[in-house]
Amino acid sequence: MRFADIPGHEKEKTALAAAADSGRVPHAILLSGPEGIGKLALARAFAQYLHCENRSGGDSCGVCPSCRQHKNLNQPDVHYVYPVVKRKPKAISKDYLEEWRNLLQATDYPSPAQWQDALDAATSQPRIYVDESAEIVRVASMSPLIKDQKIFIIWQADKLMEEAANKLLKVIEEPFADTVFLLVSSEPQKILPTIFSRTQRFNLKPLQQHDVAQWLQSVHGISEAESIESARLSEGRPAAALENARLGQETKEFAEHFRTMMRTAYSRNVAELKRLSEAAAAFGREKLKRFLSYTAGQIRENFIRNYGHPELNRMRAEEEEFSKKFSPFIHLGNVGAMSRELTRAISDVEGNANSKLVMFDLYLSMMTLIRKPKP
Ligand SMILES: [Zn+2]
Repeated sequence: MRFADIPGHEKEKTALAAAADSGRVPHAILLSGPEGIGKLALARAFAQYLHCENRSGGDSCGVCPSCRQHKNLNQPDVHYVYPVVKRKPKAISKDYLEEWRNLLQATDYPSPAQWQDALDAATSQPRIYVDESAEIVRVASMSPLIKDQKIFIIWQADKLMEEAANKLLKVIEEPFADTVFLLVSSEPQKILPTIFSRTQRFNLKPLQQHDVAQWLQSVHGISEAESIESARLSEGRPAAALENARLGQETKEFAEHFRTMMRTAYSRNVAELKRLSEAAAAFGREKLKRFLSYTAGQIRENFIRNYGHPELNRMRAEEEEFSKKFSPFIHLGNVGAMSRELTRAISDVEGNANSKLVMFDLYLSMMTLIRKPKP
């Protein structure tokens, strides 16, 4: 990851790059601040910068062999440390490297909750245990494998157990010259004071909405209007903004497909229904399941509206607009059958049935049901 891939935190990027350029990198750096603003991403970008063979303009090149290893999470002198569960005899990060890589490949902004899911640890609190510190001390005492520096990125450093923190203290107090510790925490007050006081601290702030919106547009190709709206809802957290934007865009797409399909079903245009069913099947299995759940939700909303309970409705503005004319067609004469057809379609898609056939069947049923008279 390059600094340029991360929105905001310009002051911190400049300071970190300057420290690296001058060759005076503090041995222990703490990046703190609210969850979801990019602390881990910044630690990763800094580590990549430290190892880059071709830095320029205050950023890593992103293409040298070292940068590529960083991107693929397999640079042998970068050691990720994160909370784990005691499922194996020694509870250390290395045992969960595959889960960690999978998570970071899915998102640059992992949350503690996502990590807990990835560990399949719903009931136990992941922690950094003393075995981990022993491992860190062992690795820190060896020479780097291919670079000048070994870098430890300790995510959720506040999850260090006291015994583990005490053991770590020695290598942080009297560090090896070629070792850099990057601690990341959204609860720095829980870090053992003796460790905390040894770090150079960067307290990161939530981002400006403007920066988040800009990033959604330029890096993720999201429309201007959607970017601004999602940034506003996210309180300066890029991860949340991206999720909002994706959900918003998908919901819009679903709403449009739903409207077109219902109009086509009503006008009994079978050829067009076939084309629409193929377009829906092309969503792919997971997205198709979300679309079917969305459709079931819209049927329910329109039924409620038809029976005069608008205060119970939860619709977006554009759905509400369509609903004014559409809701009279969803009534006691067809709502049950429509819901059953949708439930069946969802379970067929889950059961790996041919999505094109499932969707065409479903749309043909809708064509019959939408014309049923209100009892
Ligand atoms: Zn590079």
